[in-house]
Amino acid sequence: KPIVLSGCQPSGQLSVGNYIGALRQWVAMQDTHDCRFMLVDLHAITVRQDPARLREATLDGLALYMACGLDPQRSIIFVQSHVAEHAQLAWVLNCYTQMGELNRMTQFKDKSLQHAGNINAGLYTYPALMAADILLYQANQVPVGNDQKQHLELARDVATRFNNLYGNVFTIPDPFIPEVGARVMSLQDPTKKMSKSDENENNFIGLLEDPKRITKKLKRAVTDSDEQARIYFNPEEKPGVSNLLSMLSAATGKPIAALVPEYEDKLYGHLKTDTAEAVVAMLEPIQQRYQDYRNNMDYLNKVMASGAERASAHAAQTLAKVYDVIGFVPRP
Ligand code: ATP
Ligand code: MG
Repeated sequence: KPIVLSGCQPSGQLSVGNYIGALRQWVAMQDTHDCRFMLVDLHAITVRQDPARLREATLDGLALYMACGLDPQRSIIFVQSHVAEHAQLAWVLNCYTQMGELNRMTQFKDKSLQHAGNINAGLYTYPALMAADILLYQANQVPVGNDQKQHLELARDVATRFNNLYGNVFTIPDPFIPEVGARVMSLQDPTKKMSKSDENENNFIGLLEDPKRITKKLKRAVTDSDEQARIYFNPEEKPGVSNLLSMLSAATGKPIAALVPEYEDKLYGHLKTDTAEAVVAMLEPIQQRYQDYRNNMDYLNKVMASGAERASAHAAQTLAKVYDVIGFVPRP
């Protein structure tokens, strides 16, 4: 079976963007792939985190992973900081990644603007850690949203460079990006992506939010103010409406092309109400299951312990190979 690796940062509550762009794909891939899914707390601290909130968000994320359908029997589910090899390989890969390459990363540029007071070296070398995450497990496929495509290309470049120097150490990973919902946009500014760490809470929908709040946020979502309030799909001309159509499509499973004719004589308000209903219905069973997992700390501990152990076993093999080919003397 092809190997899959992916993860979310516990940098806030997982969002509808994370679910539609990433998590939902992960759930489906469990049948056909050999999957590893993590909560990437090492990545999360590239932006300043409150310790108590980081801890909560990690456990919430773990419970949500399972509530969404990730199955610790079939997949390896773990917390990144529990597997020391991630930080270890990241250091090595930092030495094989050029500053010129990192300078081109748009996520670094975006996050530097958002966190102008804390542009730290970790934020800059984030892609080297992400490359380590993927390459440690010799992953064949990495299901991500569109925003991570550039990082994945960098991981491929670094792996290829390393292989050219030392032989076939790493598997070159392919991106797996969904057709619908690869980029769920912010509700108040639909020209930028929805992000769980957005400081304006009206920009995103958290997976744990209650139906009233979700409906309110979607009703307030920015739509497009052109002459006729026509409903059609065109992310450039109608970013707000197109974002609602994408979410409605992702939540109902109906293709966008089939949805558009249904709104021919309807108002933006109809589209918003229907989208809210569909998103609420999509999240309802997830929220119910979440409570059970989150209240069972014994079970969460078991999942984390077994996940870390299984992940480590794979990661240690790759790291040992890397240390060997670059010339490190093995610890006697
Ligand atoms: P942060 O704001 O802290 O960066 P985030 O919402 O961008 O959080 P990440 O943890 O960085 O979430 O990303 C987790 C996964 O979700 C990645 O695969 C990413 O591509 C995907 N993803 C994030 N935001 C979106 C979005 N708006 N639409 C689709 N996929 C998304
Ligand atoms: Mg992100």
